[in-house]
Amino acid sequence: MKELYTGKLYWPVTLNDTREYPPLRDNKKVQVAVIGGGMSGAICAAELVKSGLSTVLLERGQVAGGSTSANTGLLQFCNDIMLCDLIDQIGERDAQTFYKACKVAVESLEKTASSLSVDVGFKRRSSLYYASTEQELPKLKKEYAALKACGFDVEFWSPEQIESHFPFRKSGAIVTHGDAEINPFQFVNGVADAAANAGLDIHENTDIIAHDTLPSGLHVLRTAEGFEIEAEHVVYAVGYEPEELKGRLIKANLNRSFVIVTEIQKNLQSWHEHCLVWETARPYLYMRTTLDGRVIVGGLDEETEQPIHSDKVRRKHSEKLLDQLKALFPQLQAPVEFEWSATFGESRDNLPFIGADPTWSNVYYCLGYGGNGTVYSMIAAGLLGCLIHGETHPLVDIIKLERPSLTSV
Ligand SMILES: Cc1cc2nc3c(=O)[nH]c(=O)nc-3n(C[C@H](O)[C@H](O)[C@H](O)COP(=O)(O)OP(=O)(O)OC[C@H]3O[C@@H](n4cnc5c(N)ncnc54)[C@H](O)[C@@H]3O)c2cc1C
Repeated sequence: MKELYTGKLYWPVTLNDTREYPPLRDNKKVQVAVIGGGMSGAICAAELVKSGLSTVLLERGQVAGGSTSANTGLLQFCNDIMLCDLIDQIGERDAQTFYKACKVAVESLEKTASSLSVDVGFKRRSSLYYASTEQELPKLKKEYAALKACGFDVEFWSPEQIESHFPFRKSGAIVTHGDAEINPFQFVNGVADAAANAGLDIHENTDIIAHDTLPSGLHVLRTAEGFEIEAEHVVYAVGYEPEELKGRLIKANLNRSFVIVTEIQKNLQSWHEHCLVWETARPYLYMRTTLDGRVIVGGLDEETEQPIHSDKVRRKHSEKLLDQLKALFPQLQAPVEFEWSATFGESRDNLPFIGADPTWSNVYYCLGYGGNGTVYSMIAAGLLGCLIHGETHPLVDIIKLERPSLTSV
């Protein structure tokens, strides 16, 4: 199993009791087989079952045990690529369509979270997106204009407005309304549990090691234990493991990122409305609070895929993240309790890889690369559902694997 993170994760300690699913122990025939039981696979499989398709979810480890448990749980409609840059990249109509779909996906995530019988820490939040330097201010203003023109509920804050709401001053910031936060581990476990109750067949400890196509067009997946799944459609939701895609081309960069979670803070009242906080620099620093009063800080991305093994080196990164937190919120003095480093995937044009394989019939990809991975997973669930049911979807050409914006990068 690929090592996707090292260190001490926070989310798994927030859920004592996770449902276990048996490994596959016989051959199966289904309409759809979804490979990968993380955020993407679970949401997709749940939606496919809801739409009436017999679906099996196959996970080589545990549900939510991959990058999903290293996810920091920010749900934002603004992307790693600013709307104004996306407009330059793919044109105004497509860029606006994509950004609006991200906003709708946050709303769908809220609906899904509230339909579950367990609390998964979903909370509506606004985001503060500040200019990292004075030089970035004109760009930030351009982005504000683009977001406004697209109809989003956004404000532009002056240094004085920022200072009156937070204990720091920046040269400007966009405040977006309509974002949210979630506990990704509880959410994916909750989604899987509800979907299993609704008929989704889930198998953990089931590694798919081969995929063939019969002359009839049916797909046959083979597990490491030698069992076979015959499926009309196959969805790859294998996260940051492009090596699982049997050589299918996805133009992605795999980096590593760092996260700290502090002990419970005493002075969180200085954090205006528990906003999500991030910045214009790339890679960016980002922060959020948790429902039990901690702070999560992430960033310091490095251009290497392997998570850090040395506790000492990881600790150095944690100290840097903690210093950056204290530089913004000097009164927050609680030490770090959890810290991890994790592989993080980004596509080269900053859009996710979602859609059908251009040359392999009835094979689909659900790869939400980028900081908005969860939002992309929700988009994928709707889009792939449409494709499998033979319908079209407004985002198909924007995020398909063979899109023009990927050929030039
Ligand atoms: C540090 C960090 C912070 C992040 N923060 C955010 C955030 O704030 N907001 C956000 O939206 N996104 C965030 N993301 C991105 C988000 O975590 C990912 O987009 C999301 O977890 C990906 O889910 P996934 O299901 O695609 O991948 P995973 O959770 O990794 O699931 C893929 C699963 O596929 C399984 N698998 C692979 N190959 C096989 C096989 N052959 N057979 C069976 N199973 C297989 C793996 O075991 C794994 O469990 C963050 C990511 C990182 C690393």
